[in-house]
Order: sequence, then structure tokens, then C-alpha cells
Amino acid sequence: MAKITRAQFLRGRWQEAPLPPSSEVIAKIGRTCLPIRGESCRICGNLCELNAIRFIQAEGQLPVPVIVADECTGCGDCLGICPVDAIDMKQRQPEDKS
Ligand code: SF4
Ligand code: SF4
Repeated sequence: MAKITRAQFLRGRWQEAPLPPSSEVIAKIGRTCLPIRGESCRICGNLCELNAIRFIQAEGQLPVPVIVADECTGCGDCLGICPVDAIDMKQRQPEDKS
């Protein structure tokens, strides 16, 4: 039986998922991300079923999301979930390779 993520189901995407981690694209978090600007948010981290969005916290700061390059498949499920459009898909760079 084909396995799809909850996010894919909700978006009507029925292909088997996730894409292989050799994908040429990777999610990137932009500077408009709310925790970077002092407002709490974890929406994207809760969405990514591969746990490719983790939150790190510096002392006195809110936890901010980081993309784990080895885990992100570039599936794009997190696109559109961000209330401030801080998530984009970019070509993988050499430092992003698994
Ligand atoms: S959903 Fe958007 S604003 Fe919220 S933590 Fe993720 S990237 Fe930042
Ligand atoms: S594109 Fe987004 S939802 Fe898909 S694996 Fe990467 S971080 Fe997770």
C-alpha cells in the first residue's frame, strides 16, 4: 500500500512519499521567520513528518527553525504552511549534500 504523508493527503497529493534525499532542492528558512523576529512559532516543525525542521535555542532567544540537510527530501510539503512565507525551496549547494 502506498504511504503518503498527512500533509500530502490534505493537499490531494497521492504519490508515494517522501522523495529520495538525493533531491536537487532543499527547504530554506528566510529572515522573515517569526521566531527570528521575536514571535513564537513552530508550525513548520510540526508539519514536517521527516523531522527535517528542528528548533535550536540560544540563551535568551526564542527557538528558531533550522533545516537538517541530511533529512530534508525537498518534498515541498512545508511550502505554503508558513504564515509569513518564510520557507522557500532552493537548489542544494555542496554544503547541503548528504
Ligand atoms: S512556520 Fe514560518 S514563521 Fe513559523 S517557524 Fe516555520 S519558517 Fe518560521
Ligand atoms: S521540504 Fe519541508 S516538509 Fe519536505 S522534508 Fe524538507 S523540510 Fe520537511
